[in-house]
Amino acid sequence: MPSAFPVLERHLFGPGPSNPYPEATAGLGLPLLGHLDPEFLRIMDETCSLLRTAWGTSNARTLPLSATGSAGMEAAFVNTVTDGDVAVIAVNGLFGERMCDVAARCGAEVVRVDHEWGAPIDPERVAQAHPNPKVIAAVHAETSTGVRSDIEALGQLKGDALLITDAVTSIGGIELRADDWGIDVGYAGTQKCLGVAPGLAPFTINDRAFERRITTPRSWYLDLGLLGGYVGTGGGGGRTYHHTAPVAMVVSLHAGLNRVLDEGLEQVWARHAEAGQQLQDGLQEMGLELFAQEGWRLPELTTVKVPDGVDSAAVRALLLERHNIEISGGAGAYAATVWRIGLMGHNARPDAALLMLAALKDVLA
Ligand code: PLP
Repeated sequence: MPSAFPVLERHLFGPGPSNPYPEATAGLGLPLLGHLDPEFLRIMDETCSLLRTAWGTSNARTLPLSATGSAGMEAAFVNTVTDGDVAVIAVNGLFGERMCDVAARCGAEVVRVDHEWGAPIDPERVAQAHPNPKVIAAVHAETSTGVRSDIEALGQLKGDALLITDAVTSIGGIELRADDWGIDVGYAGTQKCLGVAPGLAPFTINDRAFERRITTPRSWYLDLGLLGGYVGTGGGGGRTYHHTAPVAMVVSLHAGLNRVLDEGLEQVWARHAEAGQQLQDGLQEMGLELFAQEGWRLPELTTVKVPDGVDSAAVRALLLERHNIEISGGAGAYAATVWRIGLMGHNARPDAALLMLAALKDVLA
């Protein structure tokens, strides 16, 4: 007999996934509907509409792509750039780096604008990096370093370029206003501040970007022209089969979004801000040093320098073993010298911050 399900319930205090909202978890267990069932189509329509609110957009083409956040990144570039198109990409961490790789694979001529890891992007420097790029791209919340960047300022400086924004770790956690900030194409993930399991990539594209898209992109699955039929935004009001919708995940996202929007976006942002501040204050009171630049720290994802002489991996193993708490090491060159602690979505609460601080005190004692 195979062993029973893993029944451990971990505190997922790393950079994601976070513990889902109970409503989102319950959504996964509902009876499965067919992907063309009228009841499911209604849920999908509502999900797209709830996503518009979460993004701060009125874009008709707003949908959950059927894959994780990285597919959102691929969709953003494969639909907007092809051979020889110039893509200016702000890099201040791992996910900016990944954007460069993805854009280059789409054939773009990538102009990287490097920044120190732990610092925000400099919108002026990014905007001045090339006179006439087709796209400019930046990460709103760099999960690798715990840093927020000013996308609104970049939007004001983008000129004629399309602005692509990675909102994987910002959506549902900190202020995000796609339309007001001039975001033309945005992608996100479900498993962080939205408080839903990993598996979907909330995506939005405005008319300006859609009109300039690559009409036969090299990806069939992520072709936004074809996906219009999947969610009924392809014109004519009907649905065309493109792929089988991941029904259970969409139902779960619908439940998670309802939970977030019932609480109110501004209230949810305030809850993240409070929990993050409590954690960051507590860590500094313990004598620990934060990694991300002051003034640009994400409340939902805190980066902490591992104290000299402390074995980062051993601490993480003890947290898991003794306290059922998962945190993560740093990214890239900071893998062993930084910890990443997330209080996202359902975990953005004072009791979670206190639990994290108490457990860290215990294992560092
Ligand atoms: N972009 C950012 C900022 C992320 O934090 C992540 C995941 O952690 C991704 C993109 C990729 O998303 P996924 O791992 O869901 O494919």
